Amino acid sequence: MADKKKSLKVKKSDLAAEFPNLYKEASKSDIEAAMAFAEDYKSFIDASKTEREFVRNSIEACKELGFVDIDTKKKLKAGDKVYKSVKGKGFACAVIGVEPCTNGFNILGAHVDSPRLDLKPNPVFEDNETVYFKTHYYGGIKKYQWTTIPLALHGVIYSADGKEHIVSIGEDDSDPVFYITDLLPHLDNQQMSKKASEFISGEDLNVVIGGIPSDDKDAKEPYKQAVLELLNKKYGIKEKDFVTAEIEIVPATKARDCGLDRAYIAAYGHDDKVCAYPALMSLLTQEKPKRTCVTILTDKEEIGSYSNTGAQSAIYENFLMELLAKNSGGIENFNMLLYRKAMENTMMLSTDVTSGYDPKYPSAFESRNTAYMSHGIKIEKYTGARGKSGSSEANGDFVSKFTRILAENSIPWQTGELGKIDNGGGGTIAAYMAKTGMDVVDCGIPVWSMHAPVELISKIDLYYLYLAYKAFIENIR
Ligand code: MN
Ligand code: MN
Repeated sequence: MADKKKSLKVKKSDLAAEFPNLYKEASKSDIEAAMAFAEDYKSFIDASKTEREFVRNSIEACKELGFVDIDTKKKLKAGDKVYKSVKGKGFACAVIGVEPCTNGFNILGAHVDSPRLDLKPNPVFEDNETVYFKTHYYGGIKKYQWTTIPLALHGVIYSADGKEHIVSIGEDDSDPVFYITDLLPHLDNQQMSKKASEFISGEDLNVVIGGIPSDDKDAKEPYKQAVLELLNKKYGIKEKDFVTAEIEIVPATKARDCGLDRAYIAAYGHDDKVCAYPALMSLLTQEKPKRTCVTILTDKEEIGSYSNTGAQSAIYENFLMELLAKNSGGIENFNMLLYRKAMENTMMLSTDVTSGYDPKYPSAFESRNTAYMSHGIKIEKYTGARGKSGSSEANGDFVSKFTRILAENSIPWQTGELGKIDNGGGGTIAAYMAKTGMDVVDCGIPVWSMHAPVELISKIDLYYLYLAYKAFIENIR
């Protein structure tokens, strides 16, 4: 027996999986680096609350580092840096590798849309001398969480002449904000006996936008008239032009450190900007990678990845095809089978947030198979709901390649599922990308209060996520 024990190559203490708290394990300099990275992240997401803003700021960051629009290049060689805007709401960028693209790509993918309230096509109405916007919520929200908080308007609207007007009201300290009322507790007996899902109905998510009447004595609805006059003066738009609007109502709050020790960040839209930002940053630092590295930032994930800006859109694949064609002598040399074979050898991290085990709600989680805040990135081999339905399960050999790279780079990780099997579930963009034949695994960090107007993440998790993404695109093959 004694000899057998000796022959074990690993220490007994290493046999069982351990996923320690990284604030406890990390060096002082790593924690300092995490704090500094968090500062950059906060300022980027404060300026990038919507998918359009995130894409606009990504293009700017790319241009500063010498990336050019892929349309301007006829051929691509190692070290070339290109990007593509997907209708201004999705984004892809790449650094061409030393090996030909026909060997496959290394891809990081995240989504840049977040739950919010969108305007209805006929949004403006007057009721009892108050003017409101009618909204249609976007993504899975707990409606009651969106009342009684300051709200901002972000987006675009087109006037009758086709001119685009960019709207951003509520972020500057001198700007007005917008608001959804709730009932006072003195009179809420009926409301409080309802189920939480029924406190506030979708049709009651009406946003207060005005309360001073127009001077126009003939106006049938003088309060509404006054708001339309303001909008016309500022943007040259009329009520009918709202049919063109993509205006999103988001919390008018800035990303803030949370906790006396500043361990966390409280902010709107961590899902999925907390993955999109490091996915972008780890690509921007590439110079001449071995394999061509790509970051894809998609829209519409929160409502199923549809439309020509969602992950199911052909435009993202067109970008990959264009990379391969222009790296193989030009688009006239494109060969579909070579592209398909390249996709078989492509490896991707589908980077999205996951739920963090919340000790306040232990019954929602399976404590042995869940992610813990500050315990680092979580590898999620499969997602889906109730019997893995809708999941793109990653292949074990591919997961093994990834965990070996993490080990070589001393990057800790944890693993598990979203929550208890029968409680629900969720999906990511992984399944749509896997259709092309590429290997994909989900990887992200835990979030508390996911889809709430303000969500919480841990700074140390964000930093290790960035290190993991870098290690992945530089080394996976
Ligand atoms: Mn997400
Ligand atoms: Mn989400």
